[in-house]
Amino acid sequence: MAVSVWILGDQLLLNHPALAQAEEGVDRNQIIVLITESQTRARRLPYQRKKLVLLFSAMRHYAEKLHSSGYQVDYRLATTTTSAIREHLRKHQPEAIITMEASAYGGRKYQKNLANLFDIPIIILSNTQFLTGRYNPVPDPEPSKRYVQEQFYRKMRQHFELMMEPNGKPIGGKWNFDKSNRRSLPKNTQPILPISFEPDQITLSVMREVDQEYQGIGQVFGFDLAVTHEEAHLAASDFFEHRLSNFGTYEDAMSSAHDTIFHSRLSPYLNLGLLDPLALAQEAQKRYLDGQAPINSVEGFIRQVVGWREFIYWQYWRLMPEIASSDYWQADRPLPEMFWTGETRMNCMSHVINRAVQSGYTHHIERLMIISNFCLLAGIEPSAVNDWFLSAYIDAYEWVMIPNVFGMGLYADGGLIATKPYIASANYINKMSDYCRNCVFDHKLRTGAHACPFNYLYWNFVLEHEETLRSNTRMSRSLLGLKRFDLEQKQLIRKNAEEFLEHL
Ligand code: SF4
Repeated sequence: MAVSVWILGDQLLLNHPALAQAEEGVDRNQIIVLITESQTRARRLPYQRKKLVLLFSAMRHYAEKLHSSGYQVDYRLATTTTSAIREHLRKHQPEAIITMEASAYGGRKYQKNLANLFDIPIIILSNTQFLTGRYNPVPDPEPSKRYVQEQFYRKMRQHFELMMEPNGKPIGGKWNFDKSNRRSLPKNTQPILPISFEPDQITLSVMREVDQEYQGIGQVFGFDLAVTHEEAHLAASDFFEHRLSNFGTYEDAMSSAHDTIFHSRLSPYLNLGLLDPLALAQEAQKRYLDGQAPINSVEGFIRQVVGWREFIYWQYWRLMPEIASSDYWQADRPLPEMFWTGETRMNCMSHVINRAVQSGYTHHIERLMIISNFCLLAGIEPSAVNDWFLSAYIDAYEWVMIPNVFGMGLYADGGLIATKPYIASANYINKMSDYCRNCVFDHKLRTGAHACPFNYLYWNFVLEHEETLRSNTRMSRSLLGLKRFDLEQKQLIRKNAEEFLEHL
């Protein structure tokens, strides 16, 4: 009798554990792989059309790969996942379904309920897509305790033997080279653009479907991302070859001319299972050991992949579902229209939003220090910000967005993930980018018609939450800054902020 393996769309692993388990019991030709495109799911939000093209095309290429390796593949386009599974069971009548734990909370809950929905054994295997599925550095976390990324990261480095000396000390004598990674981009720097991929027949057909049937943001035109494991590996080699060396030094830099700068832009592929995080970290380490990349770049890249990415996933599972409704600041302003149109006189916001809408990508500092910073200062409702990120970004999935938005970006969780609210005035944006040079607002002015909104919004936020911020020692510099203002200046800051927010 046949066995079904249900593979989720963001779990396109080369060595999928459900396939391996199924092959222990029956011959490969007795395994029917179920892959479903749920139209309801794909229309839950106005998703970036390039994101839908990437997802559907990668899923369809994966189905082809499995089919040519000897599996039967039942690829279903259905209104809902439930209707797809029902139809699959009716047609194939397998003796069991084997699947791997979803990375999202709702998806995992749904899997657990499958046995109640359908009268068939459901075998749910542990998720191996993340390194924390292979080794958990904090297996029994306390619910209300704050865990910092640094300790988590060090344990991951030790366990996976990344950039470690034989004596257990970090290579280079330090765990963290972040201080070398904060330079702005020198004028006339020309980073090599990431490799692009010509859409094949499968991708072209997905592009036509998405263009005609989905009303999301952005356009399918210009889609040039990798959609197979082979292409994703080429994209990774391209990064290691051309951008890794400078990645660290300019990791926090922002530029109006370049979106990727020296970043890897590999997260869309990692998050679909087309690349393995450990293999990427090991390749970066090899480049260091071969003398091809400096330690600040290699350590910075490994920290992103093995530190932050895994830490965020681990935090998601520790803090769900409560974190998804947290609202520490009681922020309730609706998301402004400019997030969909990109129309704003703020040059930095205009650049970053337009990039997100058009390509579905901006690097993490622009997401944190421009978009999230603005939303936190302007008091935008956290769930609206989360939905926007999920809609706009090609690499955004629930497990990554919820901790990043509610935790890192907006501090809506009250500090369970980040050690302080990430807020900044125009001074930071001007230091790390060229946006302020061509802006109608003056980054040096704090109040007045030409003052940068980031300035009065920043000080308005500090004034409004002074008491709360006082309990955080990392905010003492901002609070000290308040002493410079007399009552009249404080009133002017508040007035400017109120007027701006009223017309958002
Ligand atoms: Fe952004 Fe303000 Fe700079 Fe304009 S002046 S680009 S709004 S930070």
